[in-house]
Amino acid sequence: MSADCLQRIGVVGAGTMGSGIAQVAAQSGFDVVLYDIDDHILRRATDRITHFVRRAAEKGRVTADEAEAAINRLQTTTALEAFAGCDFLIEAAPEQLELKQSLFNRLDCIVPVHAVLATNTSTLSVTQIASATQHPERVVGMHFFNPPPLMPLVEVAAGAMTSEETVHLTVEVAKCMGKTPVRTQDVPGFIVNRVARPFYLEGLRLLAQGVTDHATVDRLVREGGRFRMGPFELMDLIGLDINFAASRSVYEACFHEPRYRPSLLQQRMVESGRLGRKVGRGWYEYGGEEKP
Ligand code: NAD
Repeated sequence: MSADCLQRIGVVGAGTMGSGIAQVAAQSGFDVVLYDIDDHILRRATDRITHFVRRAAEKGRVTADEAEAAINRLQTTTALEAFAGCDFLIEAAPEQLELKQSLFNRLDCIVPVHAVLATNTSTLSVTQIASATQHPERVVGMHFFNPPPLMPLVEVAAGAMTSEETVHLTVEVAKCMGKTPVRTQDVPGFIVNRVARPFYLEGLRLLAQGVTDHATVDRLVREGGRFRMGPFELMDLIGLDINFAASRSVYEACFHEPRYRPSLLQQRMVESGRLGRKVGRGWYEYGGEEKP
């Protein structure tokens, strides 16, 4: 199958990444089925997507007709069976191996035989997720960056059993979405998250050792290092729960390599519900309009 023949894309999980991926897919001309576990989350995601697509029209990046057409291509559901007509699925559920394995096991029985099952995991093993299915050759890593409508890079990671056809189709789909796909191996954190891990963890260590405060780390990294964001600002953007799960996952997968040891500070932030921008508070307090 070629990417030109693909009509319908399924997205599993309508959170930070899933809603952004669904928006990109709809704006790229695909019919999109967006799934989450409850209606309230889906309503919020639809409002968010509608808002950002219409704003793109106001700014002249797309016409008003194109914006409305993209919004109309989006369908939401709380039933996994709605993916029965999808050619390509992108899963963006929480970063937990058992949860993703259970989803892939069910999806494998629902989607057509030609369909690709892609995971947006940041750090989990594609091979392990694929092992929960009867068709590991059609499971692939397709790692978007946050926020998906703005970030051009997509890492495409083949698991041990992924077929070349699946990888090729995933690369083509990413291109159809206007992205720049880069092939990587199925290693913990792929490339970007592997390099980024010490960025967060060293910031957290400075804080834990009482060397300085989080806002100073961010400011110095921006002003001195010319990064667009410091580690704490980036954790807030990503979601502290997701970032902590990624830290744990890389640490486990690298056989407890001390360089990747997660921080107790991350854990306490997650336990206290300070999950970052998505809930209005993390290392910083947020109010007002969300950025796409
Ligand atoms: P999120 O917490 O914002 O969204 C996850 C969504 O999954 C929620 O809407 C939740 O209701 C839904 N969900 C919960 N249980 C589910 C289930 N059983 N089946 C389907 N959906 C379920 O998380 P996110 O930041 O969008 O991350 C999703 C995935 O994308 C993770 O694997 C993460 O590692 C990866 N990722 C995140 C970022 C980032 O910056 N946040 C970047 C790249 C990749």
